[in-house]
Amino acid sequence: SGTVLLQVRVAPVGPDKLLVLAEDRTEARRVEAIRRDFVVNVSHELKTPVGALALLAETVQDAADDPVAVRRFAERMQAEAQRLSALVHEIIELSRLQVAGALQEVTTIPVRDVVSEAVDRARTTAQAKNIAVTVGGTADVLVFGDHNLLVTAVRNLLDNAVAYSPENTRVGVGVRVRRGLVEIDVVDQGVGIAVDEQDRVFERFYRVDPARSRDTGGTGLGLSIVKHVAADHGGDVQIWSEPGKGSTFTLRIPAADVPQELPQEDPQPP
Ligand code: ADP
Repeated sequence: SGTVLLQVRVAPVGPDKLLVLAEDRTEARRVEAIRRDFVVNVSHELKTPVGALALLAETVQDAADDPVAVRRFAERMQAEAQRLSALVHEIIELSRLQVAGALQEVTTIPVRDVVSEAVDRARTTAQAKNIAVTVGGTADVLVFGDHNLLVTAVRNLLDNAVAYSPENTRVGVGVRVRRGLVEIDVVDQGVGIAVDEQDRVFERFYRVDPARSRDTGGTGLGLSIVKHVAADHGGDVQIWSEPGKGSTFTLRIPAADVPQELPQEDPQPP
């Protein structure tokens, strides 16, 4: 809503003078609400796979003398357990990121390394859908940051690009430098996201289509993690998308080296 919450403090500072301090608490209250929601959401999200596991365990007991059924239920239990484990992993990751100073180990990192590691890891799932992942325009550029977190962020974008694309399509990753920012694009030819959903997808546990996301093993936390990683590196993440055409997510992080527009100095002898 358009309501603004103001906290006003009045203090006498002289015989005929009052000091009035008005603080906008709108944002603080919003953050508190998000935090409360998170706990409620986490409990809710955990209940689903735990409930499924309990039910499957019961069913498998009833089917004890049918080896084919036992096997099938065991496989489903394994899938639910994996989902649960991924969810717990992402919840921990996100809670860690929500604490200031979450960057564990800050070094100077070639963006190319981050991209190639993320692409290597995403290729297996891409191959299963016959999706070609191509890397283009890898500018030779450095950023300051946490290598693992940056790989996680790019990997999350790639996993989504693959998950929300039909078979036999292409996913592209590109790197460029613009106005001192390294821009990492992840482009897909997938289902796309309607304009009114484009901000919401960065919210924790938000999924455009919960049933579909469940099939792909999604937790609804991937993009919130990307957003936090970007912010912790002094950057952001942008989205361009059109339903039925595809999406482009751009992770922008300040470049650590000499801006490429400037003439480079002669390399120092080793
Ligand atoms: P999930 O684990 O469900 O993928 P995310 O936080 O990564 O969670 O994404 C939130 C939602 O945004 C997804 O459930 C999906 O509906 C939508 N989404 C994310 N990436 C894409 C994409 N590349 N194309 C289409 N929809 C996407």
